[in-house]
Amino acid sequence: MILLDGKRVAAEIRGELREKVALMKKKPALAVVLVGNDPASEVYVKGKIKACEEVGIISYSYRLPENSTQKEVEKLVASLVKKKAIHGILVQLPLPKGLDADKILKLIPPEKDVDGFSSANFGKIALGEDGVSACTPLGVMELMKRYGIEVKGKRAVVVGRSKIVGRPLAMLLLNRDATVTICHSKTENLKEECLRADILIAAIGKERFITADMVKEGAVVVDVGINRSENGKLYGDVDFENVKEKAAYITPVPGGVGPMTIAMLMKNTVDAAEKNE
Ligand code: NDP
Repeated sequence: MILLDGKRVAAEIRGELREKVALMKKKPALAVVLVGNDPASEVYVKGKIKACEEVGIISYSYRLPENSTQKEVEKLVASLVKKKAIHGILVQLPLPKGLDADKILKLIPPEKDVDGFSSANFGKIALGEDGVSACTPLGVMELMKRYGIEVKGKRAVVVGRSKIVGRPLAMLLLNRDATVTICHSKTENLKEECLRADILIAAIGKERFITADMVKEGAVVVDVGINRSENGKLYGDVDFENVKEKAAYITPVPGGVGPMTIAMLMKNTVDAAEKNE
């Protein structure tokens, strides 16, 4: 079994980006908007800002209180859209209850949409065109690429069909010539579907849901899930301890897809700044 070390690969990518940014006349700039005090979001935002510092991206943090109104958040995002010096805008999700995230995200134009969540960018990816891809799916593809994992012709099964992970990841796999199956909560015979996978991706949000009996011997297993257990520990969507005995490659949680997501956010921001030069 080979461990897909996202932590190591993400550091390598940040190093490459740092070299690239050092040569750029105008430094890339990312605006990070955090509304409220969700502890997990605070941790993610900190990680993103730290990665910006490492790469040489200028980051601007905007914090709004938990009880902010829809109008207040929209006003902030609209003002960032107008700022020429800002190349990318990131609104940390989830937003506090009562706020309409879709409406806020729609204010971000595709060229500043470094999270790749806009319909325009998703549409391009779905059509196999050059668009900004969502960071987590892009991170999964990059991780496999750097380990020399062949995707072409392989049977890939993606469990989860969310807008930010499952759907775009299925499109990226299809663009790389995999034969793709998308599973979700209404899928019948999930175990049989998973057992057919050469590449099995879990993006479900349920702790240790994918068990060893659902995995084909020699499969590539990528675990997107991040679940905080009652014991305070982080677990993925895959039962790592048992599945690792069957998998040829497997990502750990933490240290797998998570760091790759942030590295791809850095890449998307640098790309956005380059296009703007
Ligand atoms: P969502 O809750 O938006 O989507 C979960 C998906 O899993 C849905 O499509 C759902 O199906 C499916 N699902 C739920 N239960 C089952 C089941 N019993 N059998 C089959 N499918 C099921 O989650 P996200 O995609 O946003 O996130 C998934 C996980 O990845 C979470 O743990 C999240 O924390 C993590 N994550 C990690 C990131 C990283 O950087 N590593 C980034 C983003 C997310 P249906 O559509 O039918 O409801």
